Amino acid sequence: MTTATATATPPLAGAAIHCRDLVRIFSAEGVEVQALQGLDLDVEHGELTAVVGASGSGKSTLLSILSGLDVPTAGRASVASHDLLAMRERDRIAYRRHVVGFVWQQTARNLVPYLTAAENVALTLAAAGVPRRARALRAAELFELLDIAELADRTPAQLSGGQQQRVAIAVALANEPAVLLADEPTGELDEANSALVLETMRGVNEQLGVTVLIVTHDPAVSSHVRRTVQIRDGRTSSETLRRTEVSESGDERHVAEEFAVLDRVGRMQLPPEYVRALDLRDRVRLSLEPEHVEVRKGDAE
Ligand code: ADP
Ligand code: MG
Repeated sequence: MTTATATATPPLAGAAIHCRDLVRIFSAEGVEVQALQGLDLDVEHGELTAVVGASGSGKSTLLSILSGLDVPTAGRASVASHDLLAMRERDRIAYRRHVVGFVWQQTARNLVPYLTAAENVALTLAAAGVPRRARALRAAELFELLDIAELADRTPAQLSGGQQQRVAIAVALANEPAVLLADEPTGELDEANSALVLETMRGVNEQLGVTVLIVTHDPAVSSHVRRTVQIRDGRTSSETLRRTEVSESGDERHVAEEFAVLDRVGRMQLPPEYVRALDLRDRVRLSLEPEHVEVRKGDAE
């Protein structure tokens, strides 16, 4: 449940992912769509984070920007100290080859269909200028790490959806990116395969220290990550942090706490269920109490 507690998000110097007031406006046939409306997000190096939101909330737009495929209309965005607004086309290509790795929802978009799993990894390495012998070695190493060595010689058609996504993770990690970005990586998978893919992501995050950002509409993903950021209408609205508490008797307990996100100028979003419950609209009354802020209906008295 959402608590009234709010977490201020100060800018993180040298964060793996840093977005401030990110805006992306699409104009199609005279109609403007604000896909991102001043989004703030900081992800530290080595973090495993999920961004969860309904369809149309701006998740893919955010990921396209972070992966260097799209440019924001306004705001700031940087990944591993690369400024995504200042980059020229040549830097952008190098950035996509060396700094970020990505996994897309459509399994077909991740892998070349007529190449085996190992050849898919080798292809990515070849594009980055890695010598032939080192390519085979790196592919074998990655398949070992992801526990998919037996899939190395199969083509995508000979793999299940879940296996294809795990191979896609290997391809995404081939060039040792600082950040791994995944857009609905479990969107086409059943529950068991989704869990397997998410645990693979968690494994590479832990073992390689790569920063991982997963965007998805599936709230179940948040049970696999420590930090979930909720996105609504192109802005981050709340965050859920999970931790494990160990009692004196040694029992483990998982605790999840949801926070509203407060931006630098003091804006926050009330959870829609709160707004509905009290039928809040247009204007509300705020009052500062000793330890909290009260929000009440704004009807004229
Ligand atoms: P999500 O991935 O959360 O479902 P998207 O980022 O794909 O959301 O889309 C956010 C909003 O921006 C939607 O209203 C969508 O229709 C719009 N949008 C996304 N891409 C484009 C585009 N290329 N042209 C016009 N509108 C777009
Ligand atoms: Mg999407």
